[in-house]
Amino acid sequence: MELIFATQNRNKAKEIQALLPDHIAVKTLGEIGCHDDIPETAATLEGNAQLKAAYVHEHFKVNCFADDTGLEIEVLNNAPGVYSARYAGEQKDANDNMDLVLAHLKGQTNRKARFRTVITLILDGKTYEFEGIAEGSICEEKSGAAGFGYDPVFKPTGYAQTFSEMSLDEKNKISHRGIAVRKLIDFLSKI
Ligand code: IMP
Repeated sequence: MELIFATQNRNKAKEIQALLPDHIAVKTLGEIGCHDDIPETAATLEGNAQLKAAYVHEHFKVNCFADDTGLEIEVLNNAPGVYSARYAGEQKDANDNMDLVLAHLKGQTNRKARFRTVITLILDGKTYEFEGIAEGSICEEKSGAAGFGYDPVFKPTGYAQTFSEMSLDEKNKISHRGIAVRKLIDFLSKI
C-alpha cells in the first residue's frame, strides 16, 4: 500500500518509512507530482493537519497523512500555538521567534509550556487523528546548538538539558513528534 505524507521533506518521510512494515510505502508530495502550496489557514493544529490531509486526499485520491506542530505556552494562552513558525513575522526566523518568546516571558515565574503534534490520517476514506505531547518549560535563555525551532529554549520536564542539548535519538524518544508518529506507526502496523 502507498501512503502519501503531506510534506515536501524527504527526510521526514524516510524516518517514518524506516519504522513501517514493508507493505506500506511512504511517499512525499513531490513524489506524486504535487508542488502546490497547500493552505494552512486553520486556527488550530487539528484544523491544519486536517486541511492538509483533506487537500491531498481530494486532489490525488490517495491514502495520506499530514502533521502540524506548535509550541503552547500556558501563561500566553497557549501562544504561539498554530503560529509557531511565524510568531515573530513572515521571515519565519527561529532566533526571532525565540527572542519574542523570551521577551514575553521576562520576569514571569510560570514558564510552563508544551509542544503538541497532531497527525491526521485519511485511510480508505476514513479519518483518524493521533496526538503527541511533550511537557516542559521555557528557559531564561537559549542553550544548545542542535535541533531547530524553539529547541534551545525548551527544557522537557524531568531533564536538565534543553531539546537542543540532546542528540536526535534522545529527543525523538520523548518528543511530541516522536510520540505522535509512534501512535501512527502502531496503528498502521496492525492493518
Ligand atoms: P511544523 O508543523 O512541524 O512545521 O512546526 C511548526 C513550527 O513549530 C516550526 O517551524 C517550529 O518553529 C516549531 N517546532 C515544531 N517542532 C519543533 C521541535 O521539535 N522543536 C522546536 N520547535 C519545533
